[in-house]
Amino acid sequence: MTSRSVAYIIVGQGLAGSAVALQLLRQGKRILVIDQPSRNTSSRIAAGLFNPITGRKMVKTWMADSLFPYLFNFYREAESLTARKFFHPMPLYRPFHSIEEQNEWMGKSATPAYAPYIEKITTGSTYPNVNDPYGGLLLQQCGYVDTTTYTAAVGELIAREGILLQEDLDENALTIGQGVVRYRDVEAGGIIFCNGVHTTPWFNWLPVKPLKGEAIRIRASFDEHVILNRGVYMVPTGEPGAWRVGATYDFQNSGPGVTESARKELHDKINELVHFPVDVTGQEWGVRPTTPDRRPLLGKHPENDSVFVFNGMGTKGVSLAPYFSEVLIQALQNMKPLNKEVDIERYKLLYWTSPK
Ligand SMILES: Cc1cc2nc3c(=O)[nH]c(=O)nc-3n(C[C@H](O)[C@H](O)[C@H](O)COP(=O)(O)OP(=O)(O)OC[C@H]3O[C@@H](n4cnc5c(N)ncnc54)[C@H](O)[C@@H]3O)c2cc1C
Repeated sequence: MTSRSVAYIIVGQGLAGSAVALQLLRQGKRILVIDQPSRNTSSRIAAGLFNPITGRKMVKTWMADSLFPYLFNFYREAESLTARKFFHPMPLYRPFHSIEEQNEWMGKSATPAYAPYIEKITTGSTYPNVNDPYGGLLLQQCGYVDTTTYTAAVGELIAREGILLQEDLDENALTIGQGVVRYRDVEAGGIIFCNGVHTTPWFNWLPVKPLKGEAIRIRASFDEHVILNRGVYMVPTGEPGAWRVGATYDFQNSGPGVTESARKELHDKINELVHFPVDVTGQEWGVRPTTPDRRPLLGKHPENDSVFVFNGMGTKGVSLAPYFSEVLIQALQNMKPLNKEVDIERYKLLYWTSPK
């Protein structure tokens, strides 16, 4: 068999691997991507929401001022490279639960830190049949990525411009030396593991914590161009009347399958947020690759200069993967140092103390 040559091998084509693949294809690099799509991957079931102000306390997310402008350019360019539509910017509406909260946001909305993300503050009921007697916060720079269409479109682009193998990585067919990596008949300069919660012997010492989540699909007669978010999110799907509602955070159990308790939790929460009838039509589950410090995992293997990792996207793969995939590629190609907050160097002690 004659050997074929690529710049990099990428293992995994979820949100992480897709972003890395796009960065390299954009530069005209040849790549081989190995991905087993039949596994239940969090990327394919994610609602794809991106939102710069999150959490129960509603604070600006880490690095929002860099991540959000970047992701708008990234997904727009990805749409034009793949000739597919999957990026859907739209406002996100979060009802206030009290007059105090309304007042607090009136003040915050004028500050330079928050003003760029706030489209409007309303002080009375704004959307029909939504539980919003005190009005709410209408956020901009939000929206959703249809992750199923996005990952499929990137897969097609990879197959057209490089090599896509839809199979499990066969570790026995992989040889890694210094400066050269071989997989079957393909030779590469490096390998980048973007394998989410699935383990690889190369990085099984990294603290990727699986966090199971479930989401439901509903039908409802609510025709507004908006994402609703309070306790749960309600995100459109592109099909009129069909919405996704999520997500749960199961810290105890990361076993496979959907559960009745998650369905009930999401159903109860959506009924607190809206007054219109909701018909549950489906349910999905996935496992997020989270980290103890909630920061992504980027960098080079402690003992091999050709082996890299891009993981730990946690609950925010849609907004983290675009920006940090460029950071990783810049580090790889230009020897640019990585930000200490994301560099796997911070966990190197775990490597040196793990059994080999
Ligand atoms: C219910 C739920 C809702 C979510 N909603 C959102 C949301 O609205 N917005 C948001 O930003 N994030 C959301 N997330 C989080 C988001 O899904 C993750 O951040 C993201 O999908 C992680 O992407 P990844 O590529 O790192 O991992 P994965 O999606 O797990 O992808 C890894 C890929 O690698 C492949 N792979 C691994 N090992 C191998 C191997 N040995 N051989 C071949 N292939 C391999 C897998 O098959 C898979 O395709 C949600 C997650 C869940 C569970």
